[in-house]
Amino acid sequence: MIKKPNFSKNKDGLLPAIIQDSNTKNVLMLGYMNNEAFQETLTSKKVTFYSRSKQRLWTKGEESGNFLAYINHQIDCDQDAILMNVNPSGPVCHKGTDTCWGNANKQEFGFITDLEETISNRRNSENTDSYVKSLFHSGINKIAQKVGEEAVEVVIEAKDDNDDLFLNESADLLFHYLILLNAKGYELNDVVNLLKSRKKA
Ligand code: AMP
Ligand code: ZN
Ligand code: ZN
Ligand code: ZN
Repeated sequence: MIKKPNFSKNKDGLLPAIIQDSNTKNVLMLGYMNNEAFQETLTSKKVTFYSRSKQRLWTKGEESGNFLAYINHQIDCDQDAILMNVNPSGPVCHKGTDTCWGNANKQEFGFITDLEETISNRRNSENTDSYVKSLFHSGINKIAQKVGEEAVEVVIEAKDDNDDLFLNESADLLFHYLILLNAKGYELNDVVNLLKSRKKA
């Protein structure tokens, strides 16, 4: 059953529309739509609200250029709230942040996120007997080479049936890969976001 918003639920004919990033699932902003704004959103594929302050249809991004590309929507259980998944083309809030609640929270990968932080700290420390620090000191080519070596070790151990060695080499590979990402100015979150964007609907 395809649910339709029931715009007569409120006297002013407006329903709240929660705007969510279709990739990260972060909640980006809240606006109001009347039937006309809703239809305009579906036909133009650009999120369009009814602005209570402007008292007219307002296509988000009409001045800033930061449009919200419509992906899909869902109507809630009692048809009085709209949830829209979008692709933002820039910061959503007019104050410059990713969302109207500040900058988007990064995904947390638990222990791996802690480890990435430790790697950054070692990179910036003066501690000369830190292995991580010495890797950064020897440069990006050396770090990349190290990742290559660990990858080869994983391949070799995959052919054996020694699970212990395979897991150990896997840990070495992941650890050095995190260091390489850091050296290149990235973090695992960037790679994960890319993977998410590749996922077919
Ligand atoms: P824009 O639609 O991005 O071109 O912005 C036009 C105007 O709409 C801004 O100057 C703000 O007054 C308002 N505005 C834009 N984005 C938001 C938002 N996320 N929440 C509330 N008001 C906004
Ligand atoms: Zn409801
Ligand atoms: Zn805002
Ligand atoms: Zn190894």
